[in-house]
Amino acid sequence: MSDLMNIDGLSTYFFTEEGKVKAVDDVSFRVREGETVCIVGESGCGKSVTAMSIMGLVEEPGGKVAHGKIDFQGEDLLQMDKNTLRAIRGNEIAMIFQEPMSSLNPVIKIGEQIMEPLIVHLKMNKKQARIRAIELIKQVGISRPEQIADSYPHELSGGMLQRIMIAIAIACSPKLLIADEPTTALDVTIQAQILDMLREIKDNSGMSILLITHDLGVVAEMADYVIVMYSGKIVEEGEVVELFNNPKHPYTKGLLKSKPVINQRQDELYSIPGQVPNPLELVPSCYFHDRCEHCMPVCVSQQPQLKEVASRQKVACWLYEEAVVHA
Ligand code: SF4
Ligand code: MG
Repeated sequence: MSDLMNIDGLSTYFFTEEGKVKAVDDVSFRVREGETVCIVGESGCGKSVTAMSIMGLVEEPGGKVAHGKIDFQGEDLLQMDKNTLRAIRGNEIAMIFQEPMSSLNPVIKIGEQIMEPLIVHLKMNKKQARIRAIELIKQVGISRPEQIADSYPHELSGGMLQRIMIAIAIACSPKLLIADEPTTALDVTIQAQILDMLREIKDNSGMSILLITHDLGVVAEMADYVIVMYSGKIVEEGEVVELFNNPKHPYTKGLLKSKPVINQRQDELYSIPGQVPNPLELVPSCYFHDRCEHCMPVCVSQQPQLKEVASRQKVACWLYEEAVVHA
């Protein structure tokens, strides 16, 4: 599999009255063609901000992507002018969010909202776009597609609306679909149906998915590759089976203590005793040290770097630094 997107050293900061928050701090990872990469972590760990940075949705003066590269099919999204980025967004990279209602226009019929990207990006005429929109509604598993096309968002259930969001997202056959907690607001049965459908679309189309979630059941169900974030940094990453069977970082181990149950929603991650550090008071250290039962002096004074510990498995923890542990 070749790389579709390669993120290198991404750092995204927000500027608050109290100071600068490094919401995403020197994050690097790649998404290969046809692969589903899940980013998992507690709220505020930087997973959504990573997605927003890719989509070009972090805007000054509130925040900014301060460093890094986001190479998408050989071009850096961060260096692109607004028009080029707009042409890619919704076309080659599409995104769905937790709350479909916030992305849909309440006064425009569903069908027309699906037609819009087809007209804008694929230059279809209205008639062609309407035909394609109806096909897309069918493809996301909704019956009576003509009738749905002529409905307004408020006439549909949450599960149906999320299906419509997926129809809009896949309308232009994107290479990458970014999904930020797409099923969090839905009940368990609907969640399972939507995840199955996403997987089927992915398998048939060959698109890649970057899925952001706090739900390890969703990760187990969907991921090929998993990235665990904590306080803006990647603390561990690896192939899903390896990561679940053989987690290395104490934080990942803690998360996995609550065994994910497939098709059962987790409203929150298992909570490890202690709290995430204040993002305004971070000093070079392992950010997890307050909560870690293996904490050593070096953990408080120096930041561990993400290092490869096995093929396609990386961890940022002093326990895996030979020189420190055996000193
Ligand atoms: Fe724990 Fe130290 Fe590893 Fe951080 S670096 S997770 S404090 S052992
Ligand atoms: Mg979020």
